[in-house]
Amino acid sequence: MNIAVIGSGYVGLVAAACLCELGHDVICVDNDAQKLKLLQNGQVPIHEEFLPELVARHHGVHLHFSRNLVDAVRASSAIFIAVGTPTKATGEADLSFVEAVAREISKAISGYKVIVTKSTVPVYTNRWVRQVLLLNGAAPSEFDVVSNPEFLREGKAVTDFLYPDRIVIGANSDRPVPVMNEIYAPLLSGSYYRRADSIPAPAHHSNPPQILYSSAASAELIKHAANAFLAMKISFINAVANICEAVGADIEDVCKGIGSDSRIGARFLRAGIGYGGSCFPKDVAAFRTVARNFGYDFRLLDEVERINTGQRFQFIHKVRSALWTLKGKKLGVLGVAYKCGTDDIRESPAVAIIQQLLAEGAEIKAFDPAAMSRAQEIFGSQIAFADSAYDVADGSDALLLLTDWEEFAHLDLNLIREKLKYPIVVDGRNLYAPQAMANAGLIYHSVGRTPVRLERLTEAPVGRAS
Ligand code: NAD
Repeated sequence: MNIAVIGSGYVGLVAAACLCELGHDVICVDNDAQKLKLLQNGQVPIHEEFLPELVARHHGVHLHFSRNLVDAVRASSAIFIAVGTPTKATGEADLSFVEAVAREISKAISGYKVIVTKSTVPVYTNRWVRQVLLLNGAAPSEFDVVSNPEFLREGKAVTDFLYPDRIVIGANSDRPVPVMNEIYAPLLSGSYYRRADSIPAPAHHSNPPQILYSSAASAELIKHAANAFLAMKISFINAVANICEAVGADIEDVCKGIGSDSRIGARFLRAGIGYGGSCFPKDVAAFRTVARNFGYDFRLLDEVERINTGQRFQFIHKVRSALWTLKGKKLGVLGVAYKCGTDDIRESPAVAIIQQLLAEGAEIKAFDPAAMSRAQEIFGSQIAFADSAYDVADGSDALLLLTDWEEFAHLDLNLIREKLKYPIVVDGRNLYAPQAMANAGLIYHSVGRTPVRLERLTEAPVGRAS
């Protein structure tokens, strides 16, 4: 099928490359000239596993990039809208990008098209998209609007797209369903998974995926409710971690104990510095506002947000309790991205923590395996940048672990201790067992677990400070 994808960001680009992988011809449209130039040259502007391979495989053959939305729509049977839906000051989603795209699509409609909303949008957006098209001259017979929310996680985006748990098709009539079924046919029949060159399957997936047909409003709510629930799960376990700290219990044991209950499940029960990224904070705020607008006071979501923001302050409190005062302290920071596997720093708790530490007069040296250039864009010369975790530790008063990159979980702890000025690690992601830190002679503060304090480190020397 000929498909247009409008918006070539984290979702649009992944969707476009994966739709090519399913046998379709895709024109990916963006209005960011700089991004477009990179894409047209075959470069991939974001860090995402398997994406460079897929873009290289299909670029110029099945995958084309263009600025021209009208031509792309004319050439396509299905048009995916994957532009941003950022948060407004009121908490509502800003739908002006979606509206602008809908207006432009209406100029290009010739023959029947299925318009697919991939962007995360509040309930009734599909109705508005339909209305914008009609008001701008498109005939009702010429199009249908379908809500097909995207559940991919950055860092696992390609495998999440190709090996989804479920595909949700939200439409208010049966007419667009055959087109949507055809788009996803290689996943639904399992034929993609039998191909010799398919992207390797992730662990624990069951194929083919479930397909769920619903009304457009239900599909829109499924996406908001799913993200709000996941955010709630994170805030819940962070609240429990705070109780663990108060009573001397261990959050990792508690997580194992509750996560092994199949009604609860172990995933998303990781205590830490809270969620971030371009989705959870904005989608929780948008869902809260949608509920209010329709007369329901969803205060549970306020609490989810409050706990989440509180985790950052808890972390800074731990840094203070390890180092006493922060002014003039040299802090080594591992991780700027909001989570591992991505260069995305939007709403990253690591960024918020660095900003607060700077405000308190600390000096920061940071390293991230993928997000260095994005970090440079926002911090410039306010912080120093290092080439490796060991370089970050070198001469720092303490090491702070802020992103759960796999490589940060396998450091040579003896080398880290030798490089640090004081043997202090504050871990916002629980990447280490406290005993391993104690064995390496490191003072260790983590989340929801008893700290390893100076008094527990009996072997001398504990540091190289004179
Ligand atoms: P993004 O900011 O990375 O990408 C959006 C792209 O749309 C940008 O490249 C921008 O230049 C382009 N764009 C904006 N207006 C345009 C126009 N008129 N014509 C052409 N291009 C235009 O955003 P994203 O992270 O890909 O998210 C897109 C949507 O998908 C959001 O609604 C988001 O909530 C949702 N979503 C994101 C994720 C994720 O993990 N990032 C996951 C699921 C759903």
